[in-house]
Amino acid sequence: MKRFFTLLMPVLASGFLTSCQVPSSVSRDAGPVLNDSSMTASIRIPVGLKAPTWDSLKPKSDIPGWDRKIDHTYFSIQTSQKVIAITFDDGPHGVNTPRLLDMLKKRDIKATFYVVGNMVKNSYGPGLLRRMVAEGHEIGNHTVTHGTLSKMSEDGLRKELREAHNMIAEVTGVEPRSMRPPGGAIKNEQKKLMLKEFGYPTILWSVDPEDWKRPGASVVTSRLLNGAAPGGILLVHDLHAPTVDAMPATLDGLLAKGYKFVTVTELINMDESGSE
Ligand SMILES: [Zn+2]
Repeated sequence: MKRFFTLLMPVLASGFLTSCQVPSSVSRDAGPVLNDSSMTASIRIPVGLKAPTWDSLKPKSDIPGWDRKIDHTYFSIQTSQKVIAITFDDGPHGVNTPRLLDMLKKRDIKATFYVVGNMVKNSYGPGLLRRMVAEGHEIGNHTVTHGTLSKMSEDGLRKELREAHNMIAEVTGVEPRSMRPPGGAIKNEQKKLMLKEFGYPTILWSVDPEDWKRPGASVVTSRLLNGAAPGGILLVHDLHAPTVDAMPATLDGLLAKGYKFVTVTELINMDESGSE
């Protein structure tokens, strides 16, 4: 430890390593985790050169579509920024989804929609998906039939995801980047398969207001506002009118608390954890 401080102090004094540039794992675990060679490699920075950023220290991904190594499952991410992702499942719905899109547009909020293939097949489906993309939202895969994936064979799972993936890509010209299992029901080996074969991380959630039980708009709002935390993922359903009714107060409340809304892909790219 003594050697570590001897090496580190001049660098800190010179101002090259600010707290935001030091990887959290280094500041937390410098003594026991890092050996001498990795320490000196990370802190001996020639004058005039930029210190390494956390991004540049992250392992590269071997998963198509992702620059950095990602996990197979996310409930939330670790971040020092006040960002949050709101996700809408089970649509698109012919009446509630356009109403929601108007609310999001008015506030310049970007969301992520986990759409169901069989809903996309409705006459209004393709137009709504194109509107989502045109207005800066992200679309994720929520299967074709909304069946229970954990009860399906590997081939059944592949078929559900591939068909929905192709449908979204054909309609919008944009390929989905992540998936959400209906009901959250998914096995570990299925998550690994989806990441390897589709490049999909499995996106779960940090706040579930159980809006589908229709507890009332004000209850949905208060559960979301109380549960929100930086790096969180909010789960709601644009299929249900009372959920959309809860959105103006929810969105305004989160904005008033200082949250910036990002899509799920943007959120994952902001993860400051070690990705291991
Ligand atoms: Zn669902």
